[in-house]
Amino acid sequence: MKIILIKYGELTTKSGNRNLFITILYNNIKKALSNYNVKIIRNRVRMFIETEDDIENIVNILKNIFGIHSIVVATKVNTNIEEIESTSLDIAKRISFKTFKVETNRSDKSFPISSMDFSKRIGGLILKNIPDIKVDVHNPEYLMKIEIRNDYTYIYDKEIPGAGGYPVGVAGKGLLMLSGGIDSPVAAYMAMKRGIKVQCVYFESPPHTSEMAKNKVKKLVLELTKYEPSITLHIVKFTDIQEAIYKNIDPTYMITIMRRMMYRIAEKIMEKEGSLCLINGESVGQVASQTLTSMKVINAVTNVPVIRPVACLDKLEIIDIARKIGTYEISILPYEDCCTIFLPKHPVINPSLKSAEEFEKSFDYEKLILEAVEKREIIKIEKKDMVFDI
Ligand code: ATP
Ligand code: MG
Repeated sequence: MKIILIKYGELTTKSGNRNLFITILYNNIKKALSNYNVKIIRNRVRMFIETEDDIENIVNILKNIFGIHSIVVATKVNTNIEEIESTSLDIAKRISFKTFKVETNRSDKSFPISSMDFSKRIGGLILKNIPDIKVDVHNPEYLMKIEIRNDYTYIYDKEIPGAGGYPVGVAGKGLLMLSGGIDSPVAAYMAMKRGIKVQCVYFESPPHTSEMAKNKVKKLVLELTKYEPSITLHIVKFTDIQEAIYKNIDPTYMITIMRRMMYRIAEKIMEKEGSLCLINGESVGQVASQTLTSMKVINAVTNVPVIRPVACLDKLEIIDIARKIGTYEISILPYEDCCTIFLPKHPVINPSLKSAEEFEKSFDYEKLILEAVEKREIIKIEKKDMVFDI
């Protein structure tokens, strides 16, 4: 019988939290595979998935789940010498190779033969029954691995690399500022990989931004559900604030003030949702609002941790990740963003906190912020049946 065997990722190093990690990983896998008929068994070192469904599809889903070091499709037999012998020979006969090696790993120390001797025994059996092959312990074409556990033994060859990282959720929740650009979805992916359960907030400015721009963001979230099966998206109407900024603020400071407003709103939503940090796609030096001086002035409106996973990556490095995770093609679709429509020609590169605070006195933003938070639209995005046309 074929089964999937999962080797845990970094969590094995965190012995204190091990049970929590395994439980969260177990729940994440269960949720991601909810459309399949599977039986999942877990222990302290491994997880086993038994299924009659298509194993390849399931492996493809598992490849995107954080907290998994590697995935192995194994043949499961009873821990019984004759059964292991006949099955491993059968498996070897179905594979074509010139050199091979058998590697045994025995957690069941009551098994009467040492790992080394058992490898030799199976190796000898294979040599005797398949012509024109030889053993190569250093660089074998085919490496057969045998894992002997108490009741069952697992025979496999390939180990498929998992996504690594920590299971989503072990680090708590974070609120990601998601625009339609390239950077913020990559920031989401990187935060999820560290175990943060991500919710998203998107600022739109209808009628200056279109329904299409909003759908693009939803589509990005849908793409991210590969890594976190169900993601909450908060859509905030930013029009009134943006128009007030446009009317009252010196053009050079518009972006600075706009981003300070975004942070204030995001912080309020974050607190309401029990999140522990903000996350965004800012990258040092990328645009005027992302010089260190700008970041300092913008960040001054909040005391909560702001995580910027792509802060120190080059744009090309960010693009590489975006392509790998499947968000790039969506991000480059040409829809306007609320930042770009009001973009002044010469935004300030070195804003001062004092000037920013002075400018902000020109309109009653507190009221507008509360209103924007209260009136936000909250939607849950899940893979099932959702399609967004853009
Ligand atoms: P690009 O790939 O074009 O740089 P970006 O998403 O990085 O896109 P920036 O203008 O550089 O856009 O904004 C920096 C960060 O601010 C974004 O990564 C995102 O986290 C946040 N942000 C910008 N605009 C919005 C928006 N409309 N809604 C939510 N967050 C936004
Ligand atoms: Mg950017």
